Amino acid sequence: MNFYEEALKILKKYFGYSKFRDLQAEIIQNVLEEKDTIVLMPTGIGKSITFQIPSLIFNGLTVVISPLIALMKDQVDGLKSSGIPADFINSSQTGAERQKIKENVLSGKIKLLYVSPEKLMTKDFYLFLKKIKVSLFAVDEAHCISNWGHSFRPEYTKLKFLKHYFEKVPIIALTATADKITARDIIKQLKLENPAKFISSFDRPNLSLKVLIGRDRLTKIANFIKDKPKQSGIIYCLSRKSTESLAKRLNVFGIKAGFYHAGMMREERSKVQEDFIKDNIHIICATIAFGMGIDKSNIRFVIHYNMPKNIESYYQEIGRAGRDGLKSETFMFYSFSDVITYKYFIEKEENKNREIEISKLQRIQEFAEAQTCRRKILLSYFGEFLEKDCGNCDVCKNPPKHFDGTILTQKALSAIYRTKESIGMTALIDFLRGAKRKDFFTKNYHKIKTFGVGKNLRFDEWQSVILQLLNQGLLEIAYDKNHVLQLTEASNKVLFENKKINLVTISEIKSKKQKIVSPKRTITQKEKNFNELFERLRKLRKEIADNEKVPPYVIFNDLTLKELSDIKPTKIEDLTEVSGIGEHKKNKYGKVFIYEIINFITDKILDGVNIKGGTNLLTFKLYKKGLSVDEIAKKRDLKNATIFSHLAKSYEDGEDIDILRLLKKEEIEKIIYAIENVKVENGLKPVFDFLNQEISYGKIKLALIYLSQKNN
Ligand code: ADP
Ligand code: ZN
Repeated sequence: MNFYEEALKILKKYFGYSKFRDLQAEIIQNVLEEKDTIVLMPTGIGKSITFQIPSLIFNGLTVVISPLIALMKDQVDGLKSSGIPADFINSSQTGAERQKIKENVLSGKIKLLYVSPEKLMTKDFYLFLKKIKVSLFAVDEAHCISNWGHSFRPEYTKLKFLKHYFEKVPIIALTATADKITARDIIKQLKLENPAKFISSFDRPNLSLKVLIGRDRLTKIANFIKDKPKQSGIIYCLSRKSTESLAKRLNVFGIKAGFYHAGMMREERSKVQEDFIKDNIHIICATIAFGMGIDKSNIRFVIHYNMPKNIESYYQEIGRAGRDGLKSETFMFYSFSDVITYKYFIEKEENKNREIEISKLQRIQEFAEAQTCRRKILLSYFGEFLEKDCGNCDVCKNPPKHFDGTILTQKALSAIYRTKESIGMTALIDFLRGAKRKDFFTKNYHKIKTFGVGKNLRFDEWQSVILQLLNQGLLEIAYDKNHVLQLTEASNKVLFENKKINLVTISEIKSKKQKIVSPKRTITQKEKNFNELFERLRKLRKEIADNEKVPPYVIFNDLTLKELSDIKPTKIEDLTEVSGIGEHKKNKYGKVFIYEIINFITDKILDGVNIKGGTNLLTFKLYKKGLSVDEIAKKRDLKNATIFSHLAKSYEDGEDIDILRLLKKEEIEKIIYAIENVKVENGLKPVFDFLNQEISYGKIKLALIYLSQKNN
């Protein structure tokens, strides 16, 4: 068996997947050839498999260095639940526990060992490793070795000695950091020898991107969450205090939310994290301290209550959503006051990177105010070019319309001109709307010609106009002069040369940005069944997980539950086709899940709901794999005719089916001849009979759909 077949077999057997994702097979091949490797890929893409699969093929031990002790147990629990002989050694264990694990390694019972960097570099552990054959070192979260990156860990620098002490053992370094300097630093520090580099796109197409105006945040968030019961999500807040108050205020809306920040006691923090991971609490309001130690794959949304301070942080934080590859939502609230707060902090702090931080802030501000595809902007920040607009961000979904905003612009600019560049944004809007402010009267502003010329726009409408003017470089904020607004070169052209200015339609901005809950539509019976079954399976998963003291996603991830709810398999063998169910899990959990599905179907039938299984989906899946009708029928223990009608159903649903692979030309001709002679309106029986009952109903149906589509 060649390496590819072997790796594929392991992928299916242990992980329950039938195909490698992009680059996985190439990386595995490289590792198996015992070459050094560096992998730069975003979170959730499936990097871990690239050393886990080799660990099962190598005859020695694979040592994984991972910085987060809290994460290690979950990772290893996940592997064990798939039947992979893995364990971990770190300071959270007793000496006796560690001894036992070492013995298991010595006797070959463990193939994959996770260790913390500090443990790895003890003399004791070194001597232990020297006693056995180490086949591979995998350095996870490898950016921790570089102080260029955002999460430097001093213990990681000791990994420099790996190549010195274990000269012949190949290393694979993995990170979700996109930046090239960090990557070079990793290679240099780990002394990787001419490593093969695998870099994938940093796009995460399953995450939707959205920016909302930072008003009525609480109501917007509450409405959004109410629309998504039992889904896990994180809400990032700027301050410790606001995490607590937001959680409290959400509780008033009947939404149970926990909070998390670095000011809490250690035990409190672990408790909250644990509750989140185990689906006891679904919503966490947190500062950016939350998330590093979280491997949870079913986080369905990430909300930024405030704009993050740069694009790196934003990308990393939204990246915690949707690690299972399922559609997940992210949105950020943006208000200009966030920018001012950050600027204030940056200026105040003793800070040698001030200019860099300011320019990074500008980039995220541009992102927040963008009127073009946000994903394009995000990726271009990481040096990637997206050919087409993404279709999964708010701008793509609702492209802005423009109008001639020259007069509005002139009104705003001339107000600034006439008040001698001495007012900030709020005062300017009040001025334009003719607000009766005391200070205006003292300064005699109410006598200025442009006072009150903008009454026709609401406050927030003016706000969006002014933000656009700032963006177009028609105004500037003087941060050093109390944030007053100032004119620029470009503004003179509007004021004195009548230059035309296009603005984004304000109602457009409003309707687009305020809407976050999708409009209600009626749910079909099929969707109802799906949701109900999903809920039942989720409950079952939670019970099993609690029993085994592991997070629910370790049992099955959301994608697997979705497929089960869709396909509704009622036979153990059918589970082999479901994504994420390997042999071990099939044997361990297959029965209870099948049992629950059968129960569900029975309940429905007893309730008089006509429930059709998704059994045709399973047939279609096998068909797509290239199996013939005979083979599918045999595998599924069904009649050929049934398989044909399944395929007819899928074909009718618009699936891509090659009819000519299923029907012989002469069969189609016979059917054509038959329908020319008997009436189809009376059902298929006359056709079936006309053909001497030799061609099955399924085939006839397929042919009819095929013919009618051809005629169209
Ligand atoms: P990373 O380490 O890159 O963040 P993981 O290794 O945790 O990502 O994998 C993310 C998810 O993708 C996991 O649920 C994993 O089981 C799943 N996965 C990995 N490889 C495949 C594959 N070939 N097909 C389907 N799912 C996969
Ligand atoms: Zn887009």
